[in-house]
Amino acid sequence: MSYRLIPPQTPVSAYTTPIVQVECHRCRRNAPSLEMDKLTKRFGRNLTVGQLALQVAGSGRRPCGLADSGQCSAMAYEPPPWMWAKIRDALEGNWLARMKCERHMAAMRRTSPCPEVTVLDVLTLAIALGHDFPLSRLPGRLRCPKCWGSLVNIDWVVPPTTPEPYAPAAADVTPLRLKPTGANLARKRLKVVNGGNE
Ligand SMILES: [Zn+2]
Ligand SMILES: [Zn+2]
Repeated sequence: MSYRLIPPQTPVSAYTTPIVQVECHRCRRNAPSLEMDKLTKRFGRNLTVGQLALQVAGSGRRPCGLADSGQCSAMAYEPPPWMWAKIRDALEGNWLARMKCERHMAAMRRTSPCPEVTVLDVLTLAIALGHDFPLSRLPGRLRCPKCWGSLVNIDWVVPPTTPEPYAPAAADVTPLRLKPTGANLARKRLKVVNGGNE
């Protein structure tokens, strides 16, 4: 899982990521991607992230049945950057983009993807696609420089930054893997990979 727990005592005003996940392990209520704008309009900004998570779990079409008893254990999690970040974020944060071939079929036969890893120049990406371009759509615009196939992944390596008030202590370098967009994006689940030390 690449979602990071936001400490419940964090003030909502200190959480600057545009989306949030709310999950309650007891009632199994799970909202993977909620827009903070809408949540703060509805519940206000003058509360902690933990209080907001309980509010979310206790409302909606299927509210948590434990909300009244105080036993709802809803928590808020920050989704990984590739779900919400733009090229601008990668540029300003000096993120590293490592592209890998994902071609598993060629001429109707199974084949191995090209082994090369291409480090992308993020500034050139911003010049070509605009600084507002969402990272989630990037793999759909790129091709493998060896086979020119359109199935590629991007591992984003996010360097540690000065910890924000809500940031967990372990702000380690986290490579993030993007699956190809388009039809593949709909079929495949995006996931995070470990490692990235090669
Ligand atoms: Zn609950
Ligand atoms: Zn290739």
